[in-house]
Amino acid sequence: MKPAPFAYHRPATIADAVGLLAELAPQDGRVLAGGQSLVPIMAFRLARPAHLIDINAVAGLDGLIAQDGVLRIGARVRHAAFHRPMVDGPLGAMLTSVVRHIAHYPIRLRGTFCGSLAHADPAAEWGVVAATLDAELLALGGHGERRLTARDFFRGVMETALMPDELLAEARLPILPADTRFGFAEFSRRAGDYAMAMALAVLRLEGGAIADPRIGLGGAEAAPRRIAAAETLLRGEAPGEAVFRAASEAAAAAIDPLEDPETDGQYRRELVGAMVYRALRRACPPGAES
Ligand code: FAD
Repeated sequence: MKPAPFAYHRPATIADAVGLLAELAPQDGRVLAGGQSLVPIMAFRLARPAHLIDINAVAGLDGLIAQDGVLRIGARVRHAAFHRPMVDGPLGAMLTSVVRHIAHYPIRLRGTFCGSLAHADPAAEWGVVAATLDAELLALGGHGERRLTARDFFRGVMETALMPDELLAEARLPILPADTRFGFAEFSRRAGDYAMAMALAVLRLEGGAIADPRIGLGGAEAAPRRIAAAETLLRGEAPGEAVFRAASEAAAAAIDPLEDPETDGQYRRELVGAMVYRALRRACPPGAES
């Protein structure tokens, strides 16, 4: 099918984009970024925005800047920017390892990091990264600027704390200490499909004990999030089979699983347990636990 008729706007400055959004959001105006989620749902007529505000020509939204301990990712930065490490150390390596799970190459050339967060599909990989690393999200609207934590940002299935007249201008990820270890694991039916469950484990070792553990989940619940119950079990423990199994089981028990006709809640729980275990093992493989 073809999209329903809409008016197309192509602002060149952030001020114009925010102004148009403030004016047109009440008339069902929407931001167009990479178009890799919005255009298909418009083609199916699941969305019929009256106005599209295309941000692809807006100056100042294409920055990918590592500065003052933070990686700032502008609203025009495509998934493909992360095919190679854009920042030294574990954060760059993590983004490079995760991006390959997102859809297929042509989609990664167009789709944007911030668009993925704004769309808030529960199975989006960048959502898990943002939640696990407690990303800060910069929203610009007619009423000014808001800084949101990932925890406050993700509200549910395709639901965020962004107001209809707000532009997600930038996502900010902390640059991780050099000794940070990470592991990412995802289960999907076919390569490039959305995940049925995924886990990101991030930790350091201090004197042989786990420090600063972060366990983030996606695809399993309505929104990505950190799982405190699993992190508590890991903190201060020596890495190894028993504690990794216990943390995986705690994560599986902690979720409120999404269910669909093909995947019941119990199956998703089991997937979560398996993904958390794999992610932890990738962070600390046997024989590399110290
Ligand atoms: P758009 O499609 O342009 O916009 C999506 C929504 O977000 C719209 O409502 C739009 O108004 C809003 N929006 C976008 N940017 C902003 C902004 N800066 N501020 C405010 N609102 C904004 N994604 C995955 O994560 N994993 C996958 O495995 C995956 N598989 C896919 C497979 C296929 C076949 C397709 C077509 C897509 C897939 N995607 C997947 C989605 C893809 O990653 C999209 O690029 C992403 O979800 C949206 O980014 P976008 O820039 O294309 O946003």
